[in-house]
Amino acid sequence: MHTKKSPFNFSSTYLNLPSIFYSLSTPERLDNPELLYLNEDLLKELSIEKEINQLTEILSGYTTNYELKTYAQAYAGHQFGHFNMLGDGRAILLGEHLTANNTRYDLQLKGAGRTNYSRGGDGKATINSMLREYLISEAMHHLNIATSRSLSLFKSNEPIYRDKIYERGILCRVMKSHLRVGTFQFAAYFGKENNLENLLEYTVKRHFPKLIGCENLALSFLEKVMQLQINLVTDWVRVGFIHGVMNTDNVSIIGETFDYGPCAFMNSYNPKTVFSSIDVNGRYSFENQPKILMWNIIKLAESLLPLIDSDTNKAILLAQDLINKYQPTWENNFYKMMSNKLGLDFSAIESKKIVDELLVIMEANKLDYTNTFTALYFYLLEKDFILKVPSVLNEWRDSWEKYIKTTKEGVKNALQKMQKNNPVFIPRNHLVEEAILNATNKNYLLFNKLLEVYKNPYLYQEKYKEFLYRPINEFENNYQTFCGT
Ligand code: AMP
Ligand code: MG
Repeated sequence: MHTKKSPFNFSSTYLNLPSIFYSLSTPERLDNPELLYLNEDLLKELSIEKEINQLTEILSGYTTNYELKTYAQAYAGHQFGHFNMLGDGRAILLGEHLTANNTRYDLQLKGAGRTNYSRGGDGKATINSMLREYLISEAMHHLNIATSRSLSLFKSNEPIYRDKIYERGILCRVMKSHLRVGTFQFAAYFGKENNLENLLEYTVKRHFPKLIGCENLALSFLEKVMQLQINLVTDWVRVGFIHGVMNTDNVSIIGETFDYGPCAFMNSYNPKTVFSSIDVNGRYSFENQPKILMWNIIKLAESLLPLIDSDTNKAILLAQDLINKYQPTWENNFYKMMSNKLGLDFSAIESKKIVDELLVIMEANKLDYTNTFTALYFYLLEKDFILKVPSVLNEWRDSWEKYIKTTKEGVKNALQKMQKNNPVFIPRNHLVEEAILNATNKNYLLFNKLLEVYKNPYLYQEKYKEFLYRPINEFENNYQTFCGT
């Protein structure tokens, strides 16, 4: 057979791991693929030539003409607290692509068909769920939040059977790697001999080479992942993002957001907000995210115990010592982030109180999480703006303003911080849903417009003012997201 040269620069180090960690799999191509989106900015960042014919073939799953070794990764995970053997059941890695400056990225086709890990599933994805991932992952990227990205989206009219019949989509997901807490759980539960050690060495070499040679590699690695993940969830909370399915298989080792299934953005400030239809107990609600993250990090710690110390009791003590730092680290991060949103100096003792008081009023009055901060920004800027600070905040606002004006850094510094940390435009759930619905009816206007709006979320643009607002209560109260496979 003729093998063609691909426009990618693949060299997959993951395949050097013991074979238990993957299984070679070939994508099930799309029939008559229609290219919906090709992310040209990302192509450039990845230094990939825009060879449209080759890209179309490979990214729509037609890989057999190319010299590619495609594979699905093994992993396990706690899903809603229950441990399962999982693995890529509907995603296949094309390979690790090296950019011109030697940065390594996983390129993965989502919805690529069955693999050894598909269990009862068809391995495919609906176009609706892939449109959602494309839009929201790109929005998160432009919100300056670490995330997987979307390189391309193809669709075909092949029927996908879910609650009803959908069209099929394949999305190319790009991440620094797909290593996750669940990969370590897999090695710990199902690995043989040195598999866990192999995985740790591999991961450290690939992502945290600075840790090589440290006294207790497993412990330092755990600490690193914990910090990266705390930073990530702090960023989610900053913009009101609810991931929705923080299972351990969806927690990345390098601290990137991924798996955009039932995620959503909070409109009115309510810490108990949960949109996911399957999250009946609110396990992954907005306010639970830091708690669940700690639970997930404990699962990683448990997996690493044999590498932390051969004496289990000693290993547990060492891990526990580290986990004890979780809560203070989280609180520190949280108040620092909130202080930034309000232009406050985090080290000042007043800041925490100002933050807490605001949140109490916001919750009691169901204020819009995003627009409240935007209105405060424009108020401090002394610029007339369509969003006003709600009057229930008048008293709080006056003391906040007075306080800022007494600080050494002053108003200018406060405004700078606020501008950087408060998005004006977030993906509002009702807009995202409308855009996807229209797109599935071949009307891409709103979808394209939203892609544009969310490219510059920290900048107010008059022409986009209709996208500022939360939906009417009826939408909000009935809104549910689905895992959307
Ligand atoms: P997720 O909710 O995307 O994290 O998926 C959890 C697990 O279910 C992973 O192992 C997925 O690969 C698998 N999975 C989800 N949807 C499908 C599907 N349509 N076919 C096969 N496996 C699936
Ligand atoms: Mg997943």
